[in-house]
Amino acid sequence: MKCLVDSGTVNAWCVRRKCKSKPPISQLVYRRQIVLHYLEKCKTVPKGPGRPSTSKNSLTLNWVSDDIRYDQVGHLLVSTIDKKMKRCAGEGCSSSIRTMCSKCNVGICIDCNFIFHNK
Ligand SMILES: [Zn+2]
Ligand SMILES: [Zn+2]
Repeated sequence: MKCLVDSGTVNAWCVRRKCKSKPPISQLVYRRQIVLHYLEKCKTVPKGPGRPSTSKNSLTLNWVSDDIRYDQVGHLLVSTIDKKMKRCAGEGCSSSIRTMCSKCNVGICIDCNFIFHNK
């Protein structure tokens, strides 16, 4: 990947140097411009359609199958192992809590426990 970028950069630089209307530019400066350009691009990359804040949340959570999640059997709110902080799996909730569902094995706060297990 690095080689590809390198040769691409040099090629573009050669093309630019042949073009007389533009002022001469050292390869180093030119490369730096490209890097800065890419950095700028990365900063402004759109997060895509949908819900940016909650989609990030769901990525980090263990996925619970709906069959288990809504079966209403044995979903006990228990303390997390070693009292480790967990992020609540409730939709739109970002609480850090020390309680979890023993069956779903996801962090869940007291407020979200009922909603999480009921459609
Ligand atoms: Zn559960
Ligand atoms: Zn919650």
